[in-house]
Amino acid sequence: MNTNLPNWHERAATLRADGRMLVDGQRRAAASGEAFAKHSPIDGRLLGGVARGAAADIDGAVASARAAFDDARWAGMPPAVRKRLLQRFAEKILAAKEELALLETLDMGKPIQYSLAVDVPSTARCIAWYAEAVDKIYDEIAPTGSNALALVTREPMGVVGAIVPWNYPMIMAAWKLGPALAAGNSVVLKPSEKSPLTALRLAELAVEAGIPPGVFNVVPGFGAEAGEALALHMDVDAIAFTGSTRTGRRMLEYASRSNLKRVYNELGGKSAFIVFPDFADLQRAAETVAASLFFNQGESCNAPSRVLVHDSVADEFVAIVAAQAPKYAPADPLHPGTVMGALVDETQLRTVMGYIEAGRGEGARCVAGGRQARGESGGFYVEPTVFDGVANGMKIAREEIFGPVMSVIRFHTESEAIALANDSPYGLQASVWSDHLSRAHRVARALRAGTVHVNQYDEDDITVPFGGYKQSGNGRDKSLHAFDKYTELKTTWLRIEADKA
Ligand code: NAD
Repeated sequence: MNTNLPNWHERAATLRADGRMLVDGQRRAAASGEAFAKHSPIDGRLLGGVARGAAADIDGAVASARAAFDDARWAGMPPAVRKRLLQRFAEKILAAKEELALLETLDMGKPIQYSLAVDVPSTARCIAWYAEAVDKIYDEIAPTGSNALALVTREPMGVVGAIVPWNYPMIMAAWKLGPALAAGNSVVLKPSEKSPLTALRLAELAVEAGIPPGVFNVVPGFGAEAGEALALHMDVDAIAFTGSTRTGRRMLEYASRSNLKRVYNELGGKSAFIVFPDFADLQRAAETVAASLFFNQGESCNAPSRVLVHDSVADEFVAIVAAQAPKYAPADPLHPGTVMGALVDETQLRTVMGYIEAGRGEGARCVAGGRQARGESGGFYVEPTVFDGVANGMKIAREEIFGPVMSVIRFHTESEAIALANDSPYGLQASVWSDHLSRAHRVARALRAGTVHVNQYDEDDITVPFGGYKQSGNGRDKSLHAFDKYTELKTTWLRIEADKA
């Protein structure tokens, strides 16, 4: 046994989470003095009080962000300096790796091994990647006649409000922060009330790294209070939102009721994973879908929750997947070997169990899991669950469950598979499994999704855009394309006089 491994239970017992807001470089309580209790979904333990931010706190944070933008303390810095400060921020995230990973696991329930190996390094890499971009992006000169010069430049938008969910609290925040800060904006971040702790610590690390006060503020609180106040604020130039499609609709309403601020929505998904009979390695396809869907307790926007399998191989495929499911049985998230942790809270547990009941009620066959687990822990756990015999019109095939529940739908022809995959309000991601090159390309082209994988599922990197078609949202996170969300394009025309000499 490796005795160098931290004892996470011991560390968790002495952890003191600071739930105060961070505005203008300072920790502070909510203006109302109110705090809400944050319990851990892993066993119900109290993690501490978190400032209950509301309209007055949002006003303060936006004013601080506006002042930082207007005096150009950040956007006006030489790009090489801004880059260095963001790099230092990324270095500090990595240096605080164990503390951040523990906070993330306690706050939202994912296994500690993934908080350490995925969430913290991805967050740091995102910030470092956009830091690198700061002094490498050039503006344009348009091809004009000789009597004019037209400059096409990108300018920061001003104050960006970021509102993020609880499933990957740090990564989702970093996908907004990286490009928004690199472009020179100020940010007010509203983390989910279900997972506010790492965002607050990130803001502290940014201050320690030398990012000026007011540039990055965090106001925790509830959606209907702090979230609504931020999205309705007249002095916020853009809202970068990740969350449910239901709340995404509200973001558009808030913008129309206030200052028509830009709204970028990264929303839900119901991604199709299509297995054709010409794919030889059925075992690998089945193992991949189980690993991808059950990762993060199924609480991933791009989880492959609709598995479309050709009827001729479906029995074999379902048998392999059903045998895989118990390998993902939930266990203690603080144990280094655990692969599935707790759902984020009791509400989510009830929602997921409700979908499992709906699946049974509509006649789908539960071939693995289907029950709550580890009830004695005081936390919220559900068995990895597989339904066979699902019809695409059933509730479990239409709605995003956001839990470890897979729906297997059978098809007979390629065109039927494409039609089923596209018959969804969502269009975030999809996967095609075929050894036939033309079929793989043909189907990938026909799918209405922001990302299509062929013969794999989870390949991913900050270098590529991420986002959805249809009701999965608009705009893209990640890659250089993300700068489109955080910059305005300006055209400047200059007249060039002819030489009169
Ligand atoms: P949610 O919509 O309930 O909440 C998201 C955020 O919005 C939270 O910070 C919440 O406090 C805030 N909010 C809620 N109601 C609000 C209101 N009325 N006004 C202002 N703010 C409000 O979503 P969730 O349950 O936290 O997250 C799960 C959802 O996020 C899933 O649908 C998932 O697919 C989606 N998601 C999408 C992506 C993507 O990149 N497309 C990534 C991760 C998660």
